[in-house]
Amino acid sequence: MSEGCEGALYVVATPIGNLEDLSPRAARLLGEVSWVAAEDTRHSARLLRHLGIDKPLVSLHEHNEASRVTALRDALASGQDVALISDAGTPLISDPGFVVVRELRASGHRVIPVPGACALIAALSAAGLATDRFLFEGFLPAKGGARRQRLTAALEREETLVYYESPHRIQATLQDISALFGSRRVVLARELTKTFETFLDADAETLLAHMREDPNQARGEFVIMVAGAEPRDDETQALVEGEAWLAAMLAEGVGVKAAATVVASRLGGRKKYWYQCAQTLKESDA
Ligand code: SAM
Repeated sequence: MSEGCEGALYVVATPIGNLEDLSPRAARLLGEVSWVAAEDTRHSARLLRHLGIDKPLVSLHEHNEASRVTALRDALASGQDVALISDAGTPLISDPGFVVVRELRASGHRVIPVPGACALIAALSAAGLATDRFLFEGFLPAKGGARRQRLTAALEREETLVYYESPHRIQATLQDISALFGSRRVVLARELTKTFETFLDADAETLLAHMREDPNQARGEFVIMVAGAEPRDDETQALVEGEAWLAAMLAEGVGVKAAATVVASRLGGRKKYWYQCAQTLKESDA
């Protein structure tokens, strides 16, 4: 339990499917706190019942989170400990809790993590894609245009890309990934820790074909992981950088010849090459 007379907010991870993934520490704390703030009280009541815990549950979701801050501050100030849980996995990870944690920390209260299941970490830990660097993008936008824009922004990223997705949009998202990323490797982790846990590893088009053959593969919860872009060699990097400089200078009204001279002196390479490149850029912009 917390030291001193002030209480603490425990941010407690709960299972993402398999109830055995709840840690003994999480179970103990859920039994010890004065009350539990939960994303969906009916859903969490089932978990507490399973643990044999009878505790007051208070809803805390994206629509009332800000208005719960005062009650939480008062509770902690009066020495109560409170647990924050979400429907599944780690609170705040594509789940409510950020506003409460930010505000409680800002007012000097203790916020203590109780780590456990998290779908993106479970997916990465068993996918066989690079994990030294990854970019977690949460849920992609629901609308096609915005979704493709977000995917496009990540095209050149060298980190493994990680997205959460629901069964309603999994096929539309894979179609967009196929159109934008082509044959890039995609690992789809479905129903992690549950009976029908599946890892599929292919390009997005092959994954879609698999779903058409076996519609069960489109059911459940998904983590989509896309291999990062191949690092560019120095020469390719210089070409991309040079083109960007030329375009910027041309846009500011610098002449073709002058722009080519600047880029050749900074990046090397033949001036004639940069001249032709600038000329092409200018013509394509005309
Ligand atoms: N806070 C959770 C966590 O720590 O992973 C995530 C909550 S978010 C609202 C729900 C999304 O997480 C699902 O749509 C899915 O993309 C992913 N997810 C959650 N449980 C999963 C599971 N068992 N298998 C695959 N993905 C899962």
